[in-house]
Amino acid sequence: MALRADPARGDICLVVPKRVSEKTAWKFATDNIGWIEARLSRMQKPVPFAHDSVLPIFGQERRIVVTRTGGRTTACTLTDTTLEVHTPRENPANNIKAFLLDQLLETIRPAAEAKARSIGKAIRKITLRDTRTRWGSCGPDGNLMLCWRLVFAPMQVIDYVVAHEVAHLQHLDHSRRFWELCHQLSDDMHGSRAWLEANGDSLLRYGLRP
Ligand SMILES: [Zn+2]
Repeated sequence: MALRADPARGDICLVVPKRVSEKTAWKFATDNIGWIEARLSRMQKPVPFAHDSVLPIFGQERRIVVTRTGGRTTACTLTDTTLEVHTPRENPANNIKAFLLDQLLETIRPAAEAKARSIGKAIRKITLRDTRTRWGSCGPDGNLMLCWRLVFAPMQVIDYVVAHEVAHLQHLDHSRRFWELCHQLSDDMHGSRAWLEANGDSLLRYGLRP
């Protein structure tokens, strides 16, 4: 049997082999209640894309303000303190996500293109995905993939992840020369790596559950 904490889902999973009875499984969980409570207390509550939720968009806290309208389309506007959503929909979560992805792409694209140009390379396509184990990847063909949840990270962290992937256009490994180039292309490589190490998991709690 094994207990696993999943910060993305905000729960603890107990894996039980078929031959183990439910009673034995519950005893195992009870015996490990200290561990379970410690992990749960460290997990942060999920934050839905809904009215009154606070999202750290580009690292800056913004409250979602949803106004129901009679129109047909949903319009989102970002201010310094709010994300205003005018929508006829009861649940505009998908519209909010689409808006955030657009915002992130608009930020990433010019940064990625400028960094690539500075080392004589070019970006072809940028794709945003909901990745769990890495923040991005980059193929030698110039196709960049980034985790869309980076939209909740500070700008310099996004800048670092972009720099990291662009540096892979030059060096496919994580050699010393790769890190030198990555450092050169980043605003704050060390601070950003430390930030992701400490806060990366917390980005998974925003929006749609996996
Ligand atoms: Zn890498």
